[in-house]
Amino acid sequence: MESKEKFRTVRGYQLLQQESEELTPAMEDYLEMIYRNNLESGLLRSNMLSKLLNVHPSSVTKMLQKLNASGYVDYQKYGLIFLTQKGRRMGKFLYHRHNIIQKFLNFLGDGENPLSETELIEHHIRPDTLENIELFMDFIEKNPDVAERFQAYKNNYNK
Ligand code: ZN
Repeated sequence: MESKEKFRTVRGYQLLQQESEELTPAMEDYLEMIYRNNLESGLLRSNMLSKLLNVHPSSVTKMLQKLNASGYVDYQKYGLIFLTQKGRRMGKFLYHRHNIIQKFLNFLGDGENPLSETELIEHHIRPDTLENIELFMDFIEKNPDVAERFQAYKNNYNK
């Protein structure tokens, strides 16, 4: 099976997960958001980040200093925020992890708000579970008949 992501192995996930254990959920959210923003525009300052994450500017400054000190971002007060190589690697993993979980919740389809639930799950999921979900979603995408049968089964069950 071809894979789009180089780290897409349980081992790769484990390594990143171990590394991410030095990160709090909030730090993960920041790195994920900075990475996401880099994909879109690339120019990011702390006031923009504060809006995107809906956090007070002073908290953003504190967190950026923390991420700077742990080598994830390059940041000078009022300047642009850049991910270091370490930060980019981690951001990519966190972004990818988020997307897998959200895709899965969307597939299950009864989430009131799959986004906020993803935000809760993503920080606590084990690497092997993440790998299994990714594999499962690959399988579902390659077998649309299975997806349809599941949806029909579910609709019937809910009646
Ligand atoms: Zn997320």
